[in-house]
Amino acid sequence: MMLRSVPAPAQEQRPKRTFPEFVAAVYEDPRVGHETRELLLAIGYAVDLAKREDGVSPLKVARRKLGVDHGKARYDRLIADDAPRYKPPREAGDWYPSGAPSCEGPRLRPYRPRAYKPRAQAGLPEPTRLHKLPPTFVHVTPGYTPPRDWRTEDGVCGAQSHHRVLEKDPRTGWITARWFCKRHKDHADRVAEQVRAQNEQAPEPIPNTGGLLPCYFKADWEKVYRHYRPRWQPPKYGICADDWPSVDEMAARPSRHSRLRVLVGGVDLEDA
Ligand SMILES: [Zn+2]
Repeated sequence: MMLRSVPAPAQEQRPKRTFPEFVAAVYEDPRVGHETRELLLAIGYAVDLAKREDGVSPLKVARRKLGVDHGKARYDRLIADDAPRYKPPREAGDWYPSGAPSCEGPRLRPYRPRAYKPRAQAGLPEPTRLHKLPPTFVHVTPGYTPPRDWRTEDGVCGAQSHHRVLEKDPRTGWITARWFCKRHKDHADRVAEQVRAQNEQAPEPIPNTGGLLPCYFKADWEKVYRHYRPRWQPPKYGICADDWPSVDEMAARPSRHSRLRVLVGGVDLEDA
């Protein structure tokens, strides 16, 4: 991979981070997943190494250190994965596997619980008394919201879904998928009509994944992303995740990182 040097801009007056401080920042950043963390640390290590040894190309060292997976350099895949973009939710996909969200149309026939009828037939043994089971614990990741439960949620149809309507958030451009069953086709059409104008005016979605490399190292990342993810287009909000407008869901974003310049072996990198 070729990375050309970019002309050095005026030196940014930000405190220089030590290598341990950089490592700590990567570990404390809630946006960094385990594979991206490996990528950031490999590049950070290589940049640090390049400061002490001549002729070290940080990205080449990082690529070698990250090894090979299924015959391909992991580095290439991890860089492509870090391309900043909006990833719509799984249920918004054209093809949704079994377990699609149930119909959220209004309930067609209200549910009425029926009273228990004791068995009239004589001579049957008493039913076995059942043990009281302990409460069920379900372990979920933070921020998980349970799907709508048609048995407890009043007035929701809950039948198997067939029609999908995508709604775009007028502030973020983020997609919410609404699903309806065959009997609620009319309702789905009505909802689609309701959200049409809003969807047309919705902004380009704010990216919700990637863009972490530019938060820690300064280089021509746009060019790098284009190289490893051929049809990728830079989002209008910028390629650095620190620069994206904050939305309610991203309230816990850390503050902007300081980036400092390192020029090594024709590769222009700034370490954090
Ligand atoms: Zn329905």
